Order: sequence, then C-alpha cells, then structure tokens
Amino acid sequence: MNANMTLILDKIKAYSNIIIFRHKRPDGDCTGATKGLHQILRLTYPEKSVLLSNTDFCEYVSFLGEENSPLPDAAFADALGIVIDTATADRISDQRFSLCRELIKIDHHINVDPYAPLEWVEEERSSACEMIAAFYDAFRDELKMDEIAATCIYTGMVTDSGRFRFRSVSGDTMRLAGMLLDCGIDTDRLYANLYMKDFNALQFQAYMLGRIKRTENGVAYLHVTRAMQEKFALSFEQACASVSYMDAIRGSLIWIAFIDCEDGSIRVRLRSRFVTVNEIASKYHGGGHACASGATVANRAEMRRLLADADARLGAFKQGTEGWL
Ligand code: AMP
Repeated sequence: MNANMTLILDKIKAYSNIIIFRHKRPDGDCTGATKGLHQILRLTYPEKSVLLSNTDFCEYVSFLGEENSPLPDAAFADALGIVIDTATADRISDQRFSLCRELIKIDHHINVDPYAPLEWVEEERSSACEMIAAFYDAFRDELKMDEIAATCIYTGMVTDSGRFRFRSVSGDTMRLAGMLLDCGIDTDRLYANLYMKDFNALQFQAYMLGRIKRTENGVAYLHVTRAMQEKFALSFEQACASVSYMDAIRGSLIWIAFIDCEDGSIRVRLRSRFVTVNEIASKYHGGGHACASGATVANRAEMRRLLADADARLGAFKQGTEGWL
C-alpha cells in the first residue's frame, strides 16, 4: 500500500469541510472517481460537509446521476481540497481550488506538475477509479461503500481501461473490479447506457468512416468541422467521440481526431498502440498518457505540422520495430 494513502485518510478525518475537484472536460473515469469518492465520504462521514465541484460534467456517463449546482466562494476557505485524475493545476476545472486550506492530488497520469503538498500518484494504474477502489479496499473497515458509489467507480474503470483491454489492466484491477461487482452493480443497465447511441450519432459515424484519411506511414486521422457538427446536430462531446472510429485499422498504430471548437481552435485527440504519442501532444499544448493524449492546435497549418510529426514518429517506429501490425 502507498504510504500516502494513510496520510490522505488522516486528512479526510481531520477536516469537516471537504471539496472534491475534477479536470476540465471530465471523462467517464474522472466523473466516476469524483462521484464515487464523494458518495463514499458522504456515507462514511454524514456529519461532514463533502462537496463536489462539478459544473464541468461528462454527457456519456450522465446516467450516473445529477451533478451539483455551482459552489459559493465561501465554501472553500476552511476546506480540504481533493483533486482527482488531473495532472496539472491549470486543468483543474474549478480554479478556486487555490482557496482551499490544504490540497491533495490523487492521479494516475505522468506527474509533470506536483501541485499539491500531499499526493498519491500511481502512473501504472489503469484508471483513477481503480485508485479510489484501492483506497476503499485499503480502509474497508472504516469506509462505507454502496451500490451507487460502486457503480460510479466501476464505470470509470470500464471506460478508462477500454473495457479492461488496455495493458495497464493488472490482476489488481480485476480483483478490485470484482470487489465492486459484489456490491450489486447492474451491468445490463451500465452497458446499455455506454453502448446505445442516438440515431444522429450513428449517421454521423457512417459519414465520418468515409472521410478517414491516412498519412504516408499510416497515421489515421479525421477532421470534424463546425459545419459537420451542425449538419448532424452533434454535441461537442459526440463529435469528439469520433476518435474511436479509427481504433482498429491495420498498420495505423497512431490515430488522431481533430475537432473544431467554437473559439476557432482545434481539439486534438491522439491514440496509439505500441508506439507512444504523449510527447507529440506535449509539443502542441497538451499531454496525457503514453497511448492516449490530448492537445490543441490553433489552425490547419499547425494541424498539418502535428500530423507530420506523428507520421515521422510512426515511420521511425515501424522501421525500428519487428512485428508491428
Ligand atoms: P482526451 O483525448 O482529451 O480524452 O485526452 C486523453 C488523455 O490525455 C486524458 O487522460 C487527458 O486527461 C489527457 N489530456 C488531454 N488534454 C490534455 C492537456 N491539454 N494536457 C495534459 N493532458 C491532457
């Protein structure tokens, strides 16, 4: 067990006001981990004020329940802040974290910005939710879990591990998932919520499949313009989900979705297998995991430069590696 887990529990016990923070544009893991810990702490310490800063939320896991209304400034002064799944301070969705009396970071990203005095970072964990499950497991004599918390945490484990497919999935991941399943999660409902799509989203997928391009060395990419988002009446999140359309093209070990944002910038979602992409993301105002990163480019010229970098990266990888697919 990581020694800081005990220190984190001690801090939680010492504070009567606790605020849990997530990152901007939270995904299923960040949402599940923050909601899951929120529920565990509320169940265990009904006398404490445990709040969730969650004006940024994730559409595709909205079935996990209501999000709270914005918190007043006064809530932060005496609070212990716990930031989950957020590598850098600038990505915390509510910058009033700086008003908290003390701050804790719990994360599974590369620790490029140790912004909290007390942190528990395990880069090899498949999800932040797995860490929350491990935290509960380590102190299960003291902490309380119910079906609501277990469902939130399990959902993030499922989504961030690619349905338990990624290399980061360990025996521990599966044991912790088993522990959560024993709490009575309705997996039929969970997977119906994760897999069923709106008809317009399906039509958009069919349209985009015909527009996937490949660079010389096989980097697959697509570009979702504002006009396309309007044509299919897509939410921004639905448009961004298009990165997954390219995840199984033989030879395309890197795949990238470019999505036009309202402010004129272009969101970049990079994914890969075998070859890493986080250093490319870092070069373009982003970062993330070795094989799943995000970035932002200002215009099409910068988009082409990023593509050229990715193409060179994949080319070098293929040349230097035997047995790539
Ligand atoms: P995304 O494609 O936005 O889902 O991002 C994939 C992974 O990269 C997630 O773990 C994000 O938290 C991380 N990520 C995305 N954008 C950034 C960024 N600008 N800086 C650092 N990490 C990022």
